[in-house]
Amino acid sequence: MSAVPKVLLVEDNEMNRDMLSRRLARYGFDVVMAVDGRQGVEMARTENPDLILMDMSLPVLDGWGATRQIKADSRTRSIPVIALTAHAMAGDREKAMQAGCDDYDTKPIELSRLLGKIRQLLKDSRMRDQSTGGVTDVLNCGSTRALACGLSGKTSKSGGVS
Ligand code: MN
Repeated sequence: MSAVPKVLLVEDNEMNRDMLSRRLARYGFDVVMAVDGRQGVEMARTENPDLILMDMSLPVLDGWGATRQIKADSRTRSIPVIALTAHAMAGDREKAMQAGCDDYDTKPIELSRLLGKIRQLLKDSRMRDQSTGGVTDVLNCGSTRALACGLSGKTSKSGGVS
C-alpha cells in the first residue's frame, strides 16, 4: 500500500464524480477515476488502487459485472470494493455482496459514513498485509489532512448498513 491510500472511483455521472473525488482528495486520498465498468476493471489492474468505489449503474459494463471481473482476477481480487447505488432497493445490498463487493453504501453520499467504511476496509487490508506501513498516518489521523478523527469510533463494522 502506498503512503497515501489510492482510491479508484468508478462513476459515470460527471457531477457525482467531480464532487466525490474532490472531497476524498481533501481528506488526503489519491483519487483516480474511471467512467464505465470496463475502464474500472482495466484501471483496477493498471492503477493498483487500495480500494475501489464502484457505482453499480454504469455504461458498457455495470458495477456488478465489473466487480465480478475484478474479484475473478488474482491480480485484483484482494482490492476491497464498496458498491454505491442510487436507491436503497430491497435486495440491492445482497446483490452487491454476491457480486463480490466488500461493502455497500447508498447515494446521496453521506461522506462521514462512507469514509468510515473506507477506513475500516483499509484497516482490514492493512492487517492482512502487515509488511506495509504507509497508510498508518491517515488511518490514525496522524495527518492534518486525515479525516475527522472522531468518526473512527462511530463507524459501523464492514458490512454494516444503518
Ligand atoms: Mn451511474
